[in-house]
Amino acid sequence: MADTDAVSAWSAQQAESLYAMETWGDGFFHVNEAGHVAVRPRPGSDLTIDIPEVIAAAQEEGMTMPLIIRFQDVLRARVRRLNEAFAQAIAESGYSNRYQGVYPIKVNQLHEVVDEVLDAGEPFGMGLECGSKTELVAALPLVGDQRLLLCNGVKDHTMLALMLNAQSLGQQVLPVIEKFSEFEQLMVLADQRGVAPRLAVRVKLSTRGSGRWFESGGYRSKFGLTIPEIMRLVQDLESRGLTDRLELLHFHLGSQISNIQTLRSAVKEITQIYADLRHRGLDIRYLDVGGGLGVNYGAGYAGTEDTAVNYALTEYANAVVYAVQEICAAREVPEPVLVSESGRALTAHHSVLVVPALGVHRPDTPFEFELADEPAPVVAAMARTLEEARSSEDLQALLEVFHDAQDGRTEADQLMRLGYLDVESLAQADSLYWSTCREVLASLQALALDSPPLEQTQLEDQLTDMYLCDFSVFHSIIDHWAIGQIFPVMPLHRLDEEPKRRAQVVDLTCDSDGKVAQYPGASGTSEWLPLHRLNAGEPYYLGFFLVGAYQEILGDSHNLFGRVGEVHVYASDDEPGNFFIEKVIGGLSVQDMLAQVQYFPNELNKRMSDLVKAKIEAGVVKPNEGMRILNQYTRRFEETTYCDIKVLRRD
Ligand SMILES: *Cc1c(COP(=O)(O)O)cnc(C)c1O
Repeated sequence: MADTDAVSAWSAQQAESLYAMETWGDGFFHVNEAGHVAVRPRPGSDLTIDIPEVIAAAQEEGMTMPLIIRFQDVLRARVRRLNEAFAQAIAESGYSNRYQGVYPIKVNQLHEVVDEVLDAGEPFGMGLECGSKTELVAALPLVGDQRLLLCNGVKDHTMLALMLNAQSLGQQVLPVIEKFSEFEQLMVLADQRGVAPRLAVRVKLSTRGSGRWFESGGYRSKFGLTIPEIMRLVQDLESRGLTDRLELLHFHLGSQISNIQTLRSAVKEITQIYADLRHRGLDIRYLDVGGGLGVNYGAGYAGTEDTAVNYALTEYANAVVYAVQEICAAREVPEPVLVSESGRALTAHHSVLVVPALGVHRPDTPFEFELADEPAPVVAAMARTLEEARSSEDLQALLEVFHDAQDGRTEADQLMRLGYLDVESLAQADSLYWSTCREVLASLQALALDSPPLEQTQLEDQLTDMYLCDFSVFHSIIDHWAIGQIFPVMPLHRLDEEPKRRAQVVDLTCDSDGKVAQYPGASGTSEWLPLHRLNAGEPYYLGFFLVGAYQEILGDSHNLFGRVGEVHVYASDDEPGNFFIEKVIGGLSVQDMLAQVQYFPNELNKRMSDLVKAKIEAGVVKPNEGMRILNQYTRRFEETTYCDIKVLRRD
């Protein structure tokens, strides 16, 4: 059988629909005439950036693979889109107050990302949310004295003190009380200083989230005050004459809310509490609906799968605005400033992970051989089976041939184990088996049956190629491994050519979980990905999309693969290719990674050089050769932890 796929013409549209770009791309990604994935970073503008051109430019700057490309304009566009969705809902409904979002920095803390969100969010007064001491320390200087900074999570007295200081400076920093003891600590500190603290409260609602993260909300959630605790806190504030100091009510249902009804119900619940407390005389100004605004990773709007979301950004904004408005009207209380803490929805789209394929593992690697005059009987039988496969057409005959091939292979294995078949004959049997499988599968597929036999699926699974790629699932898409989160993945070029291989993407780690198990495709999720055959000497790049939220931060250093390098790309009409690279951040080096687990270059070098010296003295290697060996070892410390994609060729 010829070992090549005929290249057939294939259109950009076919590629876009094969990889379901419309479901997850949010209008940012498409395939251009060159068959490359390109970005339209500015909604409403035709300006496009060709991703392979960015890869080439990054390589010129000395970047190695894998690589994260951040499209800063995409990040800005998402910030605007969220704010505009709320602005529109507010305008259409006649809501009498404004929306003011905060960005939860845990979703992507990279300084440049936070700065970009703040800059793009400036016209909308966008603020920040933090959840730990370290995040608080990072965020305090960034928000100035106008933007909100909300502090969730567990807060010790040192953090509460920082927040009181910030309030004294006139900064808009609010501790969101999650446990009653935090309130007590805050009041002790405030009394010591003789100040009246401003604060917020996280409410434990009875509405539970839906989807995978729902445990973050509801009665069983780790965070938030129960209604009785809130009443205690309110009474305490009343007795101190501080009823104007509780400024914000907050809830958080968990990330990636899959059902909009759940959100609506939580919003109604908290608005009722807000209305009651307003009637009681508390001067609450903000209502904060937390995070959870979902992103479509390509599983469709089915609403049945955990990862699917059944709403778009506009519907989310409408749901919040109208629910609050309805209850405020009924209860005759002023409409509060609306706050949300959307993180995933802002950052997911802007970053693309580029990984090169290093090679393909095919189960049926061809083994060329001439059948001997008197081959082993099992090999002769399997050669006949292959002939039959080539001449069979109907379903029954094809299945029979396949079963014969399976029997032949089992028999060959047994004979080998008993010492009756040599390794060369076993290789021939194996090769004949796979050739038969390919023939049978091709004929079965040609029949295009409405309900294909089980054997067809079995064959398809067995004949799936494994594409070994230069990355670590545990580092770069940890949620795929941890919670089965699906990420869109597709080739970044050659999309004017039909991808004919069935592939599974596997990573560099020595872990059988280091693979991509599910792919969004045209008809829902699939266990394999259509890819192109690798061309010798030509790099083949895959892109993982929507990796800008959570992944980079949670990343785990399995097998000591470290942070990957990244480039920050800005769109520009004036530049060739419509872009320029503003910032290059190198990946973590081998020595940085080793230092994290207490191996240090000096010490390792010393040991290695002692070993080499001893071998030189003993005459095992010449001094020159010894030094070459040592230098080659030492040079590796500076390199990144991933593979060099250069492949050595035979002359
Ligand atoms: C994680 C978190 C968020 C962000 O949620 P997204 O789903 O990314 O929008 C917001 N608020 C709180 C309290 C969180 O813990």
